[in-house]
Amino acid sequence: MRRGRQTPPARRWVQGGLLLGFLLLFARTAYRGRDVLDWPVHLVFRLDPLAALAQWLAGGASILTAAWLGAGLLLLLTAGLGRFFCGWACPLGTTLDLLGGGLRRLLGSKKRQASLPAWTAPAVLAALTSATLLGLPLLGLLDPLSVLLRTLTLSLHPLFDAAAKGVFAGLDRSHLPIVAPAGEALYEFVKPRLLAFGKPAFLLSGLTGLAFAGVVALELRATRFWCAHLCPLGALLGLVSRFSPLRRRRSLACGACSACEAACPTGAALDDPADASLCVQCGACAQSAAPRPPAGPGGGARRPLPSRPGRSDGRC
Ligand code: SF4
Ligand code: SF4
Repeated sequence: MRRGRQTPPARRWVQGGLLLGFLLLFARTAYRGRDVLDWPVHLVFRLDPLAALAQWLAGGASILTAAWLGAGLLLLLTAGLGRFFCGWACPLGTTLDLLGGGLRRLLGSKKRQASLPAWTAPAVLAALTSATLLGLPLLGLLDPLSVLLRTLTLSLHPLFDAAAKGVFAGLDRSHLPIVAPAGEALYEFVKPRLLAFGKPAFLLSGLTGLAFAGVVALELRATRFWCAHLCPLGALLGLVSRFSPLRRRRSLACGACSACEAACPTGAALDDPADASLCVQCGACAQSAAPRPPAGPGGGARRPLPSRPGRSDGRC
């Protein structure tokens, strides 16, 4: 089996750029003594169909309001292109790729795919929708963008803020000729852009951080475990992507090497065509495909697809 780069380089750049953009918008949400938000900090949430659905179910928005414009656009694009948002744009998906990969390297753990049935995420979506209809706003609470934003606000930014202020205070106290003035200048530059106006401390910091750590730790169980089996927004996009004509299929030149199955982060490539509700259009299967084996007795023959729990062979 050929092992090499398992994701198209363009995807890395797009994911990195969009995550950076999300973090930049997050940094602009911090209170800095002015009551005016001069950046479109809600931009990502305007594209979130789950947030619009949660708002609508809670009776806060008509189906024709602006909340649905961006969300409708994303649903329309998903119906045409599949779950590209999950593979290329979602800031939590990118964060899981980064932290999950780092964690696996650190612990020497292998990449694994989850063996749960494909209906788990839709079941989570149905349960959260029912709870929201009954007055428990769980749909909004477990929206992946809310999860990431909450973690950044309550846990990660306060930690970063405390650490950075500690370092700057240390530099200042050092009274070293070049170091102390350089630290002071850097502090003046960073303070209005990245540091908190006051001293942020939140009651739920620990719990929120632990919940996020749990989502990241699931990467050791399987790559993109949260995305394939728990995320309610992923489930919604997965349902819509079933209409997409864009399906990953094995070519007739398939050498049955299983490289695509091993590279696939969600397990979608175990089926042929790939399961549209799980495929995040990351391109790793095509990137990892091995060259066709030499012609000969049995050469190039496809091997039967393995059976997966909760589904029949080859179903898409
Ligand atoms: S499944 Fe959810 S968390 Fe994962 S990439 Fe898609 S929207 Fe983001
Ligand atoms: S089938 Fe291919 S494109 Fe789809 S998620 Fe798996 S590796 Fe990515």
